[in-house]
Amino acid sequence: MEYVCRRLRQAKYGENFAGDCVLRDLRGKAVFAAQRKKGPLGGITLIAAHVDTPRLDFKQRPLVEQAGVVQAKTHYYGGIRKYQWLARPLALHGVIVRENGEKTPVTMGEKADEPVFCIADLLPHLAQKQVGQKVNEAFEAEKLNVILAHNPRTANRRTGGKQDEKNWGSVREHLLVLLHAKYGICEEDMITAELQAVPAGPARFIGFDRALVGGYGQDDRICVFAALEAMLQAKPGARSRVIIFWDKEEIGSEGATGAASRFFEYCVEKFTQGMRTSVSEIFLNSRALSADVQAALDPDFQELHEKQNAALLGYGPCFSKFTGSRGKFGASEADAEYFASLRGMLNTKGIPWQAAELGKVDQGGGGTVALFLAAYGMQVIDFGPPVLSMHSPFELASCADLWFTVEAYKAFLET
Ligand code: MN
Ligand code: MN
Repeated sequence: MEYVCRRLRQAKYGENFAGDCVLRDLRGKAVFAAQRKKGPLGGITLIAAHVDTPRLDFKQRPLVEQAGVVQAKTHYYGGIRKYQWLARPLALHGVIVRENGEKTPVTMGEKADEPVFCIADLLPHLAQKQVGQKVNEAFEAEKLNVILAHNPRTANRRTGGKQDEKNWGSVREHLLVLLHAKYGICEEDMITAELQAVPAGPARFIGFDRALVGGYGQDDRICVFAALEAMLQAKPGARSRVIIFWDKEEIGSEGATGAASRFFEYCVEKFTQGMRTSVSEIFLNSRALSADVQAALDPDFQELHEKQNAALLGYGPCFSKFTGSRGKFGASEADAEYFASLRGMLNTKGIPWQAAELGKVDQGGGGTVALFLAAYGMQVIDFGPPVLSMHSPFELASCADLWFTVEAYKAFLET
């Protein structure tokens, strides 16, 4: 979010809603940016995406010391496959706020010289029972405990603990001393903090030809990136344009900063203040893209996709006419007229595109923010690049798809 707001401010987006380039940042969790077209406002052209990603949130009382290490207990956020988070480097991100309101941002484990954190996994030698269990029984949420500290206790062995206790105290106490020295915080500050463990490390090219990009959180930051680039690069068009980036999509879009909140509506109201057209009329005449990723055909699990209607890496951004599951339940569905007009727009510009469903019918499903926009009566469709290993600590996307997603979003904003 910091990156998004910095880029927009550099491009002269500001908080003044009477201006031509408007920016509203809701507590660093949701962002609305708009570019005004002079003259009567028929409707807006909108791209919506979400900035939140699946992760492990620290519990309010996280610290526990056992077997010589201090761990942070976590509560997972969003749809994760728990085993993917074991035995791999994790970084910490978040914010600690003291009771006087002083804020300390935390980022640890992303730079090469910083330590990382880790959840230990069971050795195969002792996993005989586990390998026969169902996945959801073998990997328990309460065992996703992130190792934060350890102290050698050689003195403990020699002196029966006496000297050790005197010099070190417990590992937990020692960690609290370190945290106080580094961040100036006490244990109670952790109760109100927002701390998240995420896969550590930068995005990397994948393959000898570097044609894929791998990294954490591409659902949906790849679309946030593409929409932001499109907004900043698009030539002036016929309509006012808006991008909105929401939080909380991965846990159902509820909450003050999620798509189900009134934030978007309030911003549009303010943006269109003094216009002759009513806000409801503007919504009804608006066109939107729900910019979110689609599941790419998995080379090793092709049987879960219906191949004729599956998205392929490298074939351009992908339309999903509807989402939902079990008979389109819980979906908003785009109409034929809107879908066809977008198809025509991309064909005219020579931008590749594809259309797909998430997987085989009755195999599973998912949702996006599309239905929250559809609630305003605007035309909306899901449109974004296919991603392999979605929701894993290292998601893969095609560089070509990303490139053409930016082009397609640009074309949409310029229309
Ligand atoms: Mn998504
Ligand atoms: Mn997702």
